[in-house]
Amino acid sequence: MDMNGKIAALLRDFAAIQKSRQGMWGYKRAAAAILALEEPIESLLQPDGTLRKIPNIGPSSSRVILEVLRTGTSPTVENAIAGSGQKSDIERRRDLRGHFLSRAQVLAALRNKKLRGPTLADYHGDLQMHSTWSDGSQTLDAIVEAGIERGYQFCGVTDHSYGLPIAHGVSMHKLFEQHRVIDALNDRYKGRFRLIKGIEANIRADGSVDMEPQELRQLELVVAAPHSSLRSTADQTKRMVAAVKTPGVHILGHPRGRMYGSRPGVSANWDRVFEAAEKTGVAIEIDGDPARQDLDYDVAKRAVDAGCLFALDSDAHSTGELRYAETAIAHARLAGVPKDRVINCWPVKKLLEWLKSRHS
Ligand SMILES: [Zn+2]
Repeated sequence: MDMNGKIAALLRDFAAIQKSRQGMWGYKRAAAAILALEEPIESLLQPDGTLRKIPNIGPSSSRVILEVLRTGTSPTVENAIAGSGQKSDIERRRDLRGHFLSRAQVLAALRNKKLRGPTLADYHGDLQMHSTWSDGSQTLDAIVEAGIERGYQFCGVTDHSYGLPIAHGVSMHKLFEQHRVIDALNDRYKGRFRLIKGIEANIRADGSVDMEPQELRQLELVVAAPHSSLRSTADQTKRMVAAVKTPGVHILGHPRGRMYGSRPGVSANWDRVFEAAEKTGVAIEIDGDPARQDLDYDVAKRAVDAGCLFALDSDAHSTGELRYAETAIAHARLAGVPKDRVINCWPVKKLLEWLKSRHS
C-alpha cells in the first residue's frame, strides 16, 4: 500500500474541484510535495498525532493527510467531491493514475534486494534528455558534468525534431551546429565521457517519423515518440507498429504518451507492438519522468515476455531531473527486466556499435 500515492491523489482530486486558482495551486503543490517525499509519510507522524513539517504543505492539506492516516480516507475531500457536481470528472482522473510510483516507492524498489533487474550501479548512462537547444534548460556542458557526477559514462542528447515546433524543435542546420559542439566536448572528455548525438523524433498519426531517412542517418541515436492523438480511445496499434518498423529508429520513447491523472495516452494492442519491436530490434523505453512513468512495470512485463530490449531514460529537461532515470530503473526492477537487455547497462563501446549497426 502506497500511502504517499494515495494521499497525493486525493490532494490532486481536491485541487481539481477548487474554485480559486490559488486553492488549486496550493493543493497541487502539496500533492507534488507528497509524491516527492523520500520516505513513507507514516514515518513523519509524531507521537502527539501531528505531522512533522513538510515544505509546501499548508494547514488545510495537513488536515487531509491526517484524516487519511487516521481513517484510510478523507471525508473532507470525498464530501467536497460529492457536492461539486464534478464526480464523473474526478473518477476519470482517478483511472489515469494506475501504476504510478511515488518517489518513496522508487527508492524502496531500488533498495529491494529481492527484485531482479538493473541496479543503479549497473546503469551507465541516460538516453533521452533535452538541452537548451530545444525545450530544456540544461546546457551540453552541464549535461556532461552532471552525468560524470552521477557516475555515467555517456548521455544521449535528444532534443526535439523540427517537426515539433511547440517544443522548439531543432532545424537540421541547428542540429549540425550542435554536433560540432558535441564533437568538441567529446574531444575534451575523451575516455571519460561520451555525449551521443541524438534526436527525439515525432511519430505522426500514420506511424511515420517526422524526419527524412537521410536525416535520421546523420544522428547516432534516434528516439521516436508519440506527441499527438494521446487522448484518443481509437486503437493505434498500426501507428505504433509502423513506428518500430521505421529504419533508423533505436528507441520507442514514452510509448503511450500518458500523463499522470490527465491523459490516458495511446491505446494499442501492446503485445503486437512489442512483438514487432522485438523483431526489428527497437528498444522499448521506460520514461522516468514522474508524471509519465511510461511504460510502467505492469505493461513493461509484457515487453519482457516478448523478448524486447529496453531503454531506461530520464527525459530530463534540467540537470536536476537526471535523477528521473531512477524512476525508470525502479519500474524495470519491478518488471524484472534482465539487465543485459537494458541498453543503458551496456559498455559504451557495445552501445555505440549497436547504435551504428542499426543504420546499415
Ligand atoms: Zn517526448
